[in-house]
Amino acid sequence: MAPQTGTPIRVAVAGAAGRMGETVCRAIDGAADMELVARADPALGLSLRQALADGRPDVLVDFTIPSTAVANAHEAVAAGVHVVIGTTGFAPDALDDLRGAGANVFVAPNFAIGAVLMMQFAATAAKHMHSAEIIELHHDEKLDRPSGTAARTAALMRAATSERGGDDAEIPIHSVRLPGLVAHQEVILGDLGQTLTIRHDSIDRVSFMPGVLLAVRRVGSLSRSPMFGLEQLL
Ligand code: NAD
Repeated sequence: MAPQTGTPIRVAVAGAAGRMGETVCRAIDGAADMELVARADPALGLSLRQALADGRPDVLVDFTIPSTAVANAHEAVAAGVHVVIGTTGFAPDALDDLRGAGANVFVAPNFAIGAVLMMQFAATAAKHMHSAEIIELHHDEKLDRPSGTAARTAALMRAATSERGGDDAEIPIHSVRLPGLVAHQEVILGDLGQTLTIRHDSIDRVSFMPGVLLAVRRVGSLSRSPMFGLEQLL
């Protein structure tokens, strides 16, 4: 539940042995107003149930796999623990039944400020330019495709297009998976005699950490839950 002012926010991390989970654990360790109280990950032999019981966290941060993030959120909320989800690849309506539950859930497909701006610029551009396609590029061990960021960008662009009375045709998404990549996206818009390219690159996973820490600080006081998108907190 919400910690008292001056008391560090007690945080547990699910997926703690993963690429993102390890980075999140380091970021929480380095945040003066947070305490890392538990890690959960089958790769470490540490279950979420144990982490919730032993760590008594205020907030669970989940960077796991699509098939498990929703169940983890339900388990945490049932224990009265707020949840910040960075895992992608599950249907957004999978969390609908947590609306009005005692603890809050915040979800963002991308916690990097540059990616949030890229999505907003792309939505603005979609109001004015006729056609667009998205190329998302990620490391070759990413499980889902298209990426959550690309799916959300397309949804925001389609909403902006229909605001100006345009058609709501699907925006094609091309997925590239290669070793050496982290998380990158290009939105290319085309119109008569011109193109506009908007590109964002996360070249290091630390790019996501300020957004994750912001969500940890704010998840206990959301105006509604579940809440989607880092832009809601900016
Ligand atoms: P990863 O494969 O390196 O790590 C996933 C970890 O989850 C593994 O260590 C695995 O053992 C663990 N895990 C599996 N089931 C679990 C369970 N039931 N409980 C606890 N842990 C469990 O993957 P990654 O690169 O760290 O990415 C994790 C997720 O984060 C992916 O869905 C990815 O798309 C997403 N992601 C989101 C953002 C964002 O800004 N929102 C940024 C990067 C990655």
